[in-house]
Amino acid sequence: MRIDIITLFDEMCETVLSESIIGRARAAGTVDVRCHQLRDYALDKHRRVDDTTYGGGMGMLLKAEPIALCYEHICDELGEKPHFVYMSPKGAILTQHRLKELSSYPNICVLCGHYEGVDQRVLDAYVDEEISIGDYVLTGGELPALVFCDALLRLQAGVLSDDACYRDESHYDALLEYPQYTKPYEWRGRSVPEVLLSGHHENITRWRREQSILETMDKRPDLLERATLTEQERALLRSKDGE
Ligand code: SAM
Repeated sequence: MRIDIITLFDEMCETVLSESIIGRARAAGTVDVRCHQLRDYALDKHRRVDDTTYGGGMGMLLKAEPIALCYEHICDELGEKPHFVYMSPKGAILTQHRLKELSSYPNICVLCGHYEGVDQRVLDAYVDEEISIGDYVLTGGELPALVFCDALLRLQAGVLSDDACYRDESHYDALLEYPQYTKPYEWRGRSVPEVLLSGHHENITRWRREQSILETMDKRPDLLERATLTEQERALLRSKDGE
């Protein structure tokens, strides 16, 4: 997968995406991420990419033309149109389900807004999808874009040590992950559940599945509607609900 990020803060994006797991995957050539400085596509010598809004109002807006030129440059480089995402508080809330769908796209271009946002006309002309990372407003699209890229890139083959790493996690199948423990066995009077030391894989798997369902019921009962549960598991939920 290749991701192109259009931003006013290319160094910020570059720095974050050069660290840790994603940084190593990029260095190994497993994934390709390119950060584009929007000002490089400005039309004047002051490299200005924003202006006041028609109709009045506070704040500035990113102009359409530099964004269009940067996007077209990326299209030329790729030889095709990438799926174009605008990070926006007006977008659909990002979910693991949508990330799974997008993970098979070969090329994604991400636009980070700033100030009051972006001239609507360039969004209407080019953007395929608007994505929000939650119902709150940040100062710019860089943090949302970094969240989006991290979550998307870790689903690419070869980024994590094993695909099971993300299949076993919260939200993969609409359940939250079971509780986990590491050494020492006893910490400040609290010990690890005995079943995890039993070496009995079937019992451990059963315990983890049960804990995963109970954890979801406790913290995010809204998710359970989408979860695939056996009749026995539904009975477990009903019995816990009655307690
Ligand atoms: N005036 C816009 C509005 O009311 O919808 C908010 C603009 S915000 C201050 C500046 C930029 O930050 C946006 O263009 C967008 O790219 C980004 N942004 C802010 N909050 C976001 C969120 N929850 N999800 C995704 N992007 C966000």
